Amino acid sequence: MNRIVIENCAVATVDAHGTEHADGHVVVAGNRLESVGAGPAPAGLDGVVRRIDGTGHLATPGLVNTHHHFYQWLTRGLAQDLGLFDWLVALYPTWARIDEPMVYEAARASLAMMVRGGVTCAMDHHYVFPRGAGDLLGAEIRAARELGVRFTAARGSMDLGESSGGLPPDFAVETIEEALRATEEAVDTHHDPSFDSMLRIAVAPCSPFSVSTELLREAALLARRKGVRLHTHGSETVEEEKFCHEKFGMGPTDYFESTGWLGEDVWMAHCVHMTDDDIAAFARTGTGVAHCPSSNARLAAGLARVPDLLAAGVPVGLGVDGTASNESGELHTELRNALLVGRLGPHREAALNVRQALRLGTYGGARVLGRQDEIGSLEPGKLADLVLWKLDGLGHSTIADPVAALVLGPPAPVTLSLVNGRPVVEGGRLVTADEDDIARRARDEARRLARIAADT
Ligand SMILES: [Zn+2]
Repeated sequence: MNRIVIENCAVATVDAHGTEHADGHVVVAGNRLESVGAGPAPAGLDGVVRRIDGTGHLATPGLVNTHHHFYQWLTRGLAQDLGLFDWLVALYPTWARIDEPMVYEAARASLAMMVRGGVTCAMDHHYVFPRGAGDLLGAEIRAARELGVRFTAARGSMDLGESSGGLPPDFAVETIEEALRATEEAVDTHHDPSFDSMLRIAVAPCSPFSVSTELLREAALLARRKGVRLHTHGSETVEEEKFCHEKFGMGPTDYFESTGWLGEDVWMAHCVHMTDDDIAAFARTGTGVAHCPSSNARLAAGLARVPDLLAAGVPVGLGVDGTASNESGELHTELRNALLVGRLGPHREAALNVRQALRLGTYGGARVLGRQDEIGSLEPGKLADLVLWKLDGLGHSTIADPVAALVLGPPAPVTLSLVNGRPVVEGGRLVTADEDDIARRARDEARRLARIAADT
């Protein structure tokens, strides 16, 4: 068994007790964590292929992203000043022109950006499937595999076009039958339920205003028949709330409950506009939340009631969201903004602290993805997804507390990131792909998409 030994670093385990070591060690054996503790690693270990001096560093679990739309990498910086519905209407016509090479390069770039910043478990919610565009989900899966990152691919869908009272144009939607068939096929082809799985599939109709009630219902039945998780957008804006009240005579959470969409196998992005009853329903059913503070601010959607969600026991993770509404595309900003933006809300006394922010970005994310027994904390027996952050440089060396340095400081350089025991970042650079090549190819595909969209 090959072992990697990391010593002389601060360690934030993010276990149930929040155990930390000012000077500790982590031992990786194969793809598992073998030992995590104070002081040097146990003596006399066999098969040590690498010994790392972590002086000046903090070791944490790898970051877990719980909401994203990779394809949006090609449409960053557009519709800068619009709210959600106008922003969507402005971008749908361009998005409806994506094809497989575009999605592949957008996925590579999105993943590279996150992985370089300490994400070890990514997810993507892809819901735009233009006819004849190729194998878009397959392109994302290929990109994640090549980069060596753990991945949840949420097969999205939209079937409620404009002519049926929905928001997306008719040419951007699928039929219910097409969406369900392709989603089932994605699960059958790709989903790996094993403990050390590198790839899971989730069933993910897009939102109440782009999906019919029938598709929501059928998707929930499909996911439960297959034993996979459910994901969608929920309670993001006041406009969505209004849409649900007008169309269904109830708010989004009641609508989700009526369609079988609350449960411990479900997580939803945003959940900004939640009443006390909505929060209680999420807590009662174990429904999870992907909190996306930067995107919510960018689209002026509002501020999620994270302290109330946590106090009620709702599982909460963090999400970048698509990079058309969060151009930075990395998760550190979400740890920082979850704390900072949250403190602007009405909850000063209950606002997040730096350790809670780190927990949301690691264990909390693992929990909403249903993987809290496998990843999300540094504990012996769990999978070796970990990050060694360099905190002795210009940006961080005078910040007293390493966790505060990580969360409140500038994005920390990643000296080493392991996924499943394998290095994906070394010395701040990706080891599994060429960043400059990814940047160039993504730019070329973004230009090609802009040209095609302008011509149609
Ligand atoms: Zn989203």
